[in-house]
Amino acid sequence: TFILGIDTSCDDTGLGVVELTPVRPQVRSNVVWSQTVHAEYGGVMPELASREHVERIDTLLPRALADAGIALHDLDVVAATSGPGLMGALLVGLMYGKGLSQALNVPFYAAHHLEGHIYAAASEEGLTPPYLALVVSGGHTHLFDVTAPGEYRLVGATRDDAAGEAFDKVARLAGLGYPGGPAISAAAERGDPLAVPFKPPLQGQEGFEFSFSGLKTAALLAFQRGARPEDLAASFQRAAVRSLVDTTVRAAHALGRETVVVSGGVAANRALRDAFGQTGLRAAFPAGGLNTDNGAMIALAGAAALQAGQAPSPLDGGAAAYVPLAPLPANPQFDTS
Ligand code: ATP
Ligand code: FE
Repeated sequence: TFILGIDTSCDDTGLGVVELTPVRPQVRSNVVWSQTVHAEYGGVMPELASREHVERIDTLLPRALADAGIALHDLDVVAATSGPGLMGALLVGLMYGKGLSQALNVPFYAAHHLEGHIYAAASEEGLTPPYLALVVSGGHTHLFDVTAPGEYRLVGATRDDAAGEAFDKVARLAGLGYPGGPAISAAAERGDPLAVPFKPPLQGQEGFEFSFSGLKTAALLAFQRGARPEDLAASFQRAAVRSLVDTTVRAAHALGRETVVVSGGVAANRALRDAFGQTGLRAAFPAGGLNTDNGAMIALAGAAALQAGQAPSPLDGGAAAYVPLAPLPANPQFDTS
């Protein structure tokens, strides 16, 4: 079974093919066009993003198929992101995917963007729910308990900035460049992680929330007082990684989970991967190229929906700019029963 996945939620046009084998899903191709038009504006321009998706998507499909070694009519399923993201950008991939499924007469699955990030590691052997999933990306820091395929409980999330956003902002204020994650990580190699003392965020909390705005402010003050950028990078990275790892480990113990999937752009961070390796939990990470936005992860989300026996999505379903994967627990003090 060959599944095409499409993600056009933001400024990357991603198409990928996954083959569903009896053992586990395997990524056959993953092509991503990362838009460059936004660089001069210092942020993503929604209308430009939509137009770029429209211009690129037709040329990327043949490449995704060729890389996978299949023809168009070999596709058995089409999956596309329906939200959250930029409305115009989402619509390009969603409508393209629906049209393709109609033309090929194959089932269509609409995927939540965060399901894509969560299942980006799903080609790893023996990775089946229940497990915790920590999504750490440019817009999200969300910890889910994946109780069964397609079933999610939100355990905790950031109160303010997302982890990736904090990496980007600290890199910018220290003049380390963009994107901030890789820049901080590279500078940290040459810095002293103990040079700048950061107070651990939300120390002593009983819940499983995250907060990064305090670290960002502390980084700005330290920089103004003359901290070296590489020391700042190393110290900030250490504090951010510890916060992510400590809270996730506490949640794993509270919920009795032994496996954690760490995904999203920040999951590419070497220090974060090393720290999770020391926890005693089984930590799974997406393979290279599957951390940041891509189409293969949406195909993997489609594979999970198929395996869970979910019905295909109706073709009259729309896109949604804001849509939670799981509702926030009514009681902020998360119930671990
Ligand atoms: P979302 O999925 O929440 O809408 P997004 O898709 O824009 O956000 P991703 O593409 O998953 O986010 O990740 C981008 C983020 O990952 C950026 O903030 C970037 O700085 C961060 N990032 C990338 N590489 C690293 C790294 N090595 N260390 C830390 N952060 C990193
Ligand atoms: Fe993303």
